[in-house]
Amino acid sequence: MTIELKKLTKRFGSLTAVDAIDLDVGDGEVLCLLGPSGCGKTTTLRMVAGLEFATEGDVFLQGKQVNDLAPRERNVAMSFQFYALYPSLSVAENLAFPLHGEGLSQSEIASRVKKISDTLQLGGILDRTPGQLAEGEKQRVAVGRSIIRDPNCFLFDEPLSRLDVQLREEMRGEIKEVLQDLSKPTVIVTHDQLEALTMADRIAVMRDGRIEQVDTPHNVFQRPANLFVAGFIGTPQMNLIPATFTALHGPGKAEFAVEGGQSLTIEVDPRVSELSPGAKITLGIRPRNLEISHEPVEDGLSTRIDIVEPMGAETLAHMNDGHHDLRVVTDWRVPLTEDEQAHTRFPPGATHIFTEDEQVLRTQ
Ligand code: ATP
Repeated sequence: MTIELKKLTKRFGSLTAVDAIDLDVGDGEVLCLLGPSGCGKTTTLRMVAGLEFATEGDVFLQGKQVNDLAPRERNVAMSFQFYALYPSLSVAENLAFPLHGEGLSQSEIASRVKKISDTLQLGGILDRTPGQLAEGEKQRVAVGRSIIRDPNCFLFDEPLSRLDVQLREEMRGEIKEVLQDLSKPTVIVTHDQLEALTMADRIAVMRDGRIEQVDTPHNVFQRPANLFVAGFIGTPQMNLIPATFTALHGPGKAEFAVEGGQSLTIEVDPRVSELSPGAKITLGIRPRNLEISHEPVEDGLSTRIDIVEPMGAETLAHMNDGHHDLRVVTDWRVPLTEDEQAHTRFPPGATHIFTEDEQVLRTQ
């Protein structure tokens, strides 16, 4: 089973909520739609489920165009949050609930409940009611109930958003395992990047109805395709510093004039040689890649330590070069004093370059 979206578009009056997106979800693949509020994630999911009809473009399930099919005829399972068990029903009855009305025999229902409870390790608690369960068990039952209909694919909209922080952490890992065992294409909508990074095989990052990048969690983090993805993924946020390319001093060794007057020479992507001197670019570097030095360095900026925020094992330092706040995460043992001068180093290969059209400069 596969899901394929081709030039899928949804307009609400003059608003284009989803703008000609192309996307494939493979058999057994978990794809997360990730993006800020209002970017079109839920609308995309609802068009796959058949709860919303596309204005233009197509939805294919297993190679078959399903644009005009009602949700039931598509045999997809769309569930919202994993919560709300019926308190007076046992675990087994809660699990079986979505099967009522499917015209299944009692023995078929029993065998589905057995299969799902084996997968989710609920065998020992089938006779209990929700009030007798630990929180983690309740969540596993809720997951089980949303997948028991054995549909062609699974669609989840912000499944963990109602849970408290600790349960969310437990559930992220748990859901990933369950979904892997089920081997069905799965789409999860989330605005929480940690959820996407931990649960997805691939992430589609959306903005304003369009897909900005579809890639593995590793690649959207390590190789962001453009400025938006670079700034959206990762906490603390990547430092994005406007600069001008001034000169090449060797293969991939380039000098930049940073907005505000300072210049720095760093080792970057060799494709920097394709830029013309004077080209406006943005330097992108993650806070954990920057280094603080008390000696002047060629590959860094002269900065002042503005604010020091202890975060336990690490410290977040806000450095300032007179024009930009540079976020640096260091080991907590590095001594830092507010208002002191210190240099902020850009180590070789750690800096991404985004050209004026906001796309990354990259060697493929
Ligand atoms: P959120 O995380 O806030 O739910 P989202 O990325 O899921 O955001 P959508 O719910 O898909 O975004 O909404 C995309 C855009 O379409 C938004 O501007 C929203 O206001 C608009 N929209 C969604 N449904 C409708 C509707 N039924 N009628 C009119 N506009 C709608």
